[in-house]
Amino acid sequence: MAKICVIGSSSMDLVVTSSRRPGAGETVLGESFKTVPGGKGANQAVAAARLGAEVYMIGRVGEDTFGTDILNNFEANGVNTQNVKPVTHLESGTAHIILAEGDNSIVVVEAANREVTPAYVDEAVDVIRNADIVLIQQEIPEETVVHVSALCAKFGTPLLLNPAPARMISQEVIDNASYITPNEHEAEILFQGVSPAESLRQYPNKLFITEGSKGVRYFDGEQEVLVPTYQVKAVDTTGAGDTFNAAFAVALAEGKPLQDSIRFANRAASLSVTKFGAQGGMPTRAEVEESL
Ligand code: ADP
Repeated sequence: MAKICVIGSSSMDLVVTSSRRPGAGETVLGESFKTVPGGKGANQAVAAARLGAEVYMIGRVGEDTFGTDILNNFEANGVNTQNVKPVTHLESGTAHIILAEGDNSIVVVEAANREVTPAYVDEAVDVIRNADIVLIQQEIPEETVVHVSALCAKFGTPLLLNPAPARMISQEVIDNASYITPNEHEAEILFQGVSPAESLRQYPNKLFITEGSKGVRYFDGEQEVLVPTYQVKAVDTTGAGDTFNAAFAVALAEGKPLQDSIRFANRAASLSVTKFGAQGGMPTRAEVEESL
């Protein structure tokens, strides 16, 4: 079994549907409310566990009911939570989502996720040392991503950086990472003023730009390659990137060749968009293999 260490955010998404979005100072009546576990780190950990990996999450929750729900959800999905420790002085991370007028508005409160610090990660340094791959995103402090990238380089542990949400990353982090997987929008912010073709050429077999229903583009050292994804009836694309990154990490950790790993990840992500919800749509290993 591939051993995957996921370092990132966990949160509870509080989702309200309403026919209309309230303006400033206005109150409207909503139609429904639900809570769903989310956060890019948690989503990717759950996706990797469903795909059959041994997953170790490094993250934080608050000492509140959302924290308990987040931990229970990890456990229900077989994610190891030894390194998801409660923060006493902050709430669990939350995302406050209003679905109205065919679009969503989101307020994210990072809270406990701010405490995924370099010192906290150091408490679990053996997990990083012993992992087949480390998977990290950017909903945690920037200095933690820098620190983890240096640890991975030191231990020789491959690092997959999913640079989401987008922010500038240092050359040091780019150099330390083995794989970097922005979507098109994130790639634009990462490599400002450089065309996608040029940036792909600069980082052969390292930079993989996901292009939604088109698939994934990278430069193999000789030419640009587009690995098309699978045609599906998309119902909800939330979490497509999270499923893609988790599946890519699982396949790479198992030693699958690069193109096969991308195909496996495209298959998993394309299945995820056929169902509602980020975690709700994440497929199992059997579901991916049946349809490959
Ligand atoms: P994000 O969800 O982070 O914005 P993308 O939209 O690029 O990222 O999607 C990530 C991956 O999910 C794609 O590379 C592809 O494999 C898969 N995917 C996304 N949307 C679709 C779709 N409509 N049909 C099939 N696969 C999809």
